[in-house]
Amino acid sequence: MQYYSLQNPALKVSFETAVTEGMAPDKGLYFPEQIPQLDPTFLKNLHQYTDQEIGYEVIKAFVGDEIPEPQLRKIVADTLHFPFPIQKVSRATYALELFHGPTLAFKDVGARFMAGCLGYFRRNSTKPVTVLVATSGDTGAAVASGFYNVPGVEVVILYPSKMVSTLQEKQLTTLGGNIRALEILGTFDDCQQIVKTAFLDQEIQSKRPLTSANSINVARWLPQMFYYFLAYRQMKAAHPKLVFSVPSGNFGNICAGMMAAAIGLPVSHFIAATNANDTIPRFMQTQEYKPGRAVPTLSNAMDVADPSNFVRILELYGKNFPQLAASMSSYSFNDKDTARAMERVYKEYHYMLDPHGAVGYLGLQQYLAEDPDATGVFLETAHPVKFEDTAPKAIRDEIHTPAKVMSLYGKEKSSIVLPADYQAVKKTLLQLEFQNSELSH
Ligand SMILES: *Cc1c(COP(=O)(O)O)cnc(C)c1O
Repeated sequence: MQYYSLQNPALKVSFETAVTEGMAPDKGLYFPEQIPQLDPTFLKNLHQYTDQEIGYEVIKAFVGDEIPEPQLRKIVADTLHFPFPIQKVSRATYALELFHGPTLAFKDVGARFMAGCLGYFRRNSTKPVTVLVATSGDTGAAVASGFYNVPGVEVVILYPSKMVSTLQEKQLTTLGGNIRALEILGTFDDCQQIVKTAFLDQEIQSKRPLTSANSINVARWLPQMFYYFLAYRQMKAAHPKLVFSVPSGNFGNICAGMMAAAIGLPVSHFIAATNANDTIPRFMQTQEYKPGRAVPTLSNAMDVADPSNFVRILELYGKNFPQLAASMSSYSFNDKDTARAMERVYKEYHYMLDPHGAVGYLGLQQYLAEDPDATGVFLETAHPVKFEDTAPKAIRDEIHTPAKVMSLYGKEKSSIVLPADYQAVKKTLLQLEFQNSELSH
């Protein structure tokens, strides 16, 4: 499969290049040259396949022959090695739980799949590549866990000191091995700025080649299609008119759902649910794209004002607005609505939402009020314990802490504290040594 830059369709690269570069040199996002079509008998017999077989069938055409079948099957199996259960919550409302992975948020799937692909592409290189990533919490944790012990890959994570939750910080700073955390005395924006400057720094690139693992990478975007197939398999028999409500920030997850539909999954409608960062709900009303500035909310992994992946959605619909509007609705909810939904759903249905899932739940309820025949699945994208600090008081003590997280609290944090200063970070980057025996073979 070839991928082209959305800035310039004439610029085409292989899957390997798209994964290794992340973004095209002209700063465009990569997009697959063809939309492959799944075999209808595969869809009809979906229930006969394992999660791993479904993942392989869905992704194989997007990878092409660049990763041989046995290796690709193994990458998919390593990615989908935890469950994706569906729970009924209320009338016509089901939660697809995407938080049973190692870092308790759905970004584990994309990060693990990308790590597998990059590990494969780097298999014969003698010089390690460094994945450099800035995080406000979830992404860094998923990347650290996904790339842990991948040979030939070292990971450096920049995070803003005191601005990630206790649990997130433990996830970033306790792995060791090929993972290093730089604790920056500044904001997330400072971290992101430093990372962007480093990518353009020829001296760093020649001594320590860098690559990015951010969410626009095709290897993080496309495997998110798996969720929708796994949900459909669990729902299919009883519910012909199926809609998905996706809590959205950068719009990568929902765009993967739309790609799943484009290659053949029968989905009747998508709901893009956002927090107060409502650029897309406004766009759907006015057809004017006016991003503004991001505002902080309870669902902070979705505090995005200018969602990068929306251009991919426009591309998928051939920039045809009426067609997009027929397939997708978008609603915005403020923190008060979100907290109230978390309390009410726990009280009435005994289901514990996290703030992101709560936005997805609200989006689905709003849609069902307009289309009562539909059955909806909303994506529960993180475990509530990740956002325990900001959960409404009335339900906070009811949040259950999974055993695998308990053990993290006892582990020693290891980070390098640095000012929000590019030269200081650069000096550290050039000197960092990784003591990981796994890397030397
Ligand atoms: C990243 C994230 C989102 C938003 O996903 P996008 O693909 O950026 O729209 C939603 N919920 C959680 C918990 C996240 O970490």
